[in-house]
Amino acid sequence: MNEIADRLAAVHTEIAAAAVRAGRSAEEIELVAVSKTHPPETLLAALDAGQCVFGENRVQEARAKIPLLPGRARWHLIGHLQKNKIRHALAAGFELYHGLDTLELAREFDRIAEEAGQFPRVLLEVNVAGETSKFGFSPDQLRAEMEALLALGRLQIEGLMTIPPFAPEAENSRPFFIALRELRDRLQAEFRVPLPRLSMGMSGDFAVAVEEGATLVRVGTAIFGTRRGKAWKPAGDAASFDD
Ligand SMILES: *Cc1c(COP(=O)(O)O)cnc(C)c1O
Repeated sequence: MNEIADRLAAVHTEIAAAAVRAGRSAEEIELVAVSKTHPPETLLAALDAGQCVFGENRVQEARAKIPLLPGRARWHLIGHLQKNKIRHALAAGFELYHGLDTLELAREFDRIAEEAGQFPRVLLEVNVAGETSKFGFSPDQLRAEMEALLALGRLQIEGLMTIPPFAPEAENSRPFFIALRELRDRLQAEFRVPLPRLSMGMSGDFAVAVEEGATLVRVGTAIFGTRRGKAWKPAGDAASFDD
């Protein structure tokens, strides 16, 4: 599993180089190792190589893995959160939720977080390109609903997240990363709230994202290699992983 250590080192090198190009400190950027579909042994190899933050996109898969990794591992939910999984997600102890994507979901999350006695940290997902197939607030909708979002007393809204349209060239993502940063700047000024975090950039384009201000990059394939198709589940577990 030295391969994972080597790939992690290569990703860190690329992040550092992009930070230098942008006049930023590499310490401002947190690498989220996207571990969805990979078995716990693979995550352990990354943890042993010094990677502590893991991104999972399914609540149930994450909940199966979390008890199998040492407690120093930290967990981010990077995917869309389904309403009927909120309670399970809160019980899992995610450090950050990247994909809060509607006011309705935010209200439900806030309500259940209050019942659970928690103050979850969240990012608002923005569909900057306006793709109909994608989750996320449109920029206009987010501005219209920001006041209502900020009124939710349990949610700690720390910034924005986006997934740009798939493109073979990293440069194609740049306009969407710029759009997210500019939207963040506008929201900060208009609503007088700090939104310090920008979650943007995946294996193919994280260096460009760092150049444009990402504080969290979500990198899977470049660390763990190609994913198998399905969620990981414990051997012999007959329960359906329907989330
Ligand atoms: C899977 C996933 C990633 C990681 O994608 P890679 O191309 O493998 O780096 C990043 N963000 C989200 C939201 C994902 O679902």
